Parts: sequence; C-alpha cells; structure tokens
Amino acid sequence: MRNIKERQILVSKGTIFDIKKFAVHDGPGIRTTIFFKGCPLDCWWCHNPEGRHTGIEKLPIQENRNRSSITANKNAETSGKEITLTEIMRDIEKDLIFYEESQGGVTFSGGEPLMQIDFLTSLLKNCHSNGIHTLVDTCGYASWSCFESILPYTDMFYYDLKLIDDAEHIKYTGVSNKTILSNLEKLVQHDQRITIRIPLIPGITDTDKNLKEIVKLLKKMNNIQSIMLLPYNKLGEDKYRRFGLPLRTGKLLAYDNGNLEAIKKRFDALNLNISIESGHHE
Ligand code: SF4
Repeated sequence: MRNIKERQILVSKGTIFDIKKFAVHDGPGIRTTIFFKGCPLDCWWCHNPEGRHTGIEKLPIQENRNRSSITANKNAETSGKEITLTEIMRDIEKDLIFYEESQGGVTFSGGEPLMQIDFLTSLLKNCHSNGIHTLVDTCGYASWSCFESILPYTDMFYYDLKLIDDAEHIKYTGVSNKTILSNLEKLVQHDQRITIRIPLIPGITDTDKNLKEIVKLLKKMNNIQSIMLLPYNKLGEDKYRRFGLPLRTGKLLAYDNGNLEAIKKRFDALNLNISIESGHHE
C-alpha cells in the first residue's frame, strides 16, 4: 500500500458536514465522499437541508409527542465541523487499498464544494499528487475562475442540471441558471469527463417542457459522458420533519418503474449511457 506523501499545505481547514466511506454510488469504484458545508442554491427538494448553510449550526430536533402536535424538544443536532486537510488525508489513506482494487477514489460533494474553493483545491492537489482518482459533484454555480483552478486536479465532474427555464430556476432554487449553463458549456469545451445529473422532482423538473429543453441543450454538447436521473424519493421528507423545516414541495408521490422508464426513453436520442439512480438523491 502506498503512503500519502507529506506535502506543503495551502489551505489547511474547511467545514464539512459528513464523510461517507465505502460509497458505491458516488462515482467509479469504492469511494470516500466528503460533504462540504454550504450551498449557494436553496432547492425546494434539497435532500441535505442540514448541509445548505455555511458554517456550523445547531438544528433543533422536533419530536411528535402526542401525534396531534409537533413540539420542539431540548435536543439539537449540530451540523458541520471544522476539519483539517491532514485529518481528511489520514482518513483517505486508510482506504487506499480499496480505491486501488476497485478503481475508486475520492468524491467531493455537499452542499457545494466549490464554495470552499481554496480548501477544495488543496484537497484535490493532495489526492492528485498521490494518484487518487478525484470527482467533484457540483451544482455549477460558481465563478469560472473557481473551475479553472481545479481543472488540473479533477478527473471527473458530476454536474447537476435542474431547470432550463430561468424564471423557474430562480423560483425553485433561488438563483438564475445563467452561470450554471455557461460554466457547463466551458467545461465541455475543456474536454472534461462530465456526467450530467438530473433530479426528477414530480411536477417541477420532470415536466414535458423541461425534459425536452434539457435534451435539446445536451444534444448540442459533445463530451458528455453519461446521464444520471435521480428520482425524488420520500426519505428526505423525514429530515424536514425532524428539523421542523417547511416542506415547500408539499407531499409528492414517489415514482414507479413504469414512469421512470418512460422518462429515461426521452434521453435515448442522445446515445449516451443513461442510468436511473433510485437510491441516490440530491
Ligand atoms: S444544489 Fe444540491 S445541495 Fe444545494 S440546495 Fe440544491 S439540492 Fe441542496
């Protein structure tokens, strides 16, 4: 087994809200996924509401005492912790053998990893110099200079596409999609390995109009490696109840295999590898 080389550290601390080891849905092979705290978007359906705000926060836990009323109890869950680059690299080092045997590596997710660009760059550089495969999972909302700074050390991108209509994007995520779409065009031109991830949210992103527009946009782009459809699943609703957060989407029906296959067929014309990742969500 290789040892991680000691390297000069650029930015040694960041804030994360989770580390998932032995992840098999976050890129090729067996991976360690680091969840960065903070996201510039505010998607109505976000599956990790505890990771959206920057910094460490206390989230009061709600409990249902008598079924008819939900009350706050005294407990609170802390989301986020400061962590050093050395701590993360030590954790990664323990799993080198698994990455090597499975052609896995490390995935940087969140939240939005590009929000802590200096810390992300330091981690990517360290992984890269140790021959560890790196994947950045991004919503695309960052300045192009942030992307430029990580390109040399990133082997693969997961890039989210949600809504093509800008007014709808603003309504459901809080920000315009102009920067996101322009960064995607530039990434494609830079010959990066990109998997597009599309969250399927009933009545919001899975409309006939939106899916047609996504297919039309992707038709114009070379170098997209594959597409992942991420169907809404109701497990995330528990977090909203637990933390007493409003469920802005309202209660949504889960997809069944029939309607997922019909949606998948819409992407056939692209001649790409298209997968439905039912156990994986945004
Ligand atoms: S981009 Fe992802 S992490 Fe950020 S708010 Fe939307 S769903 Fe949540």
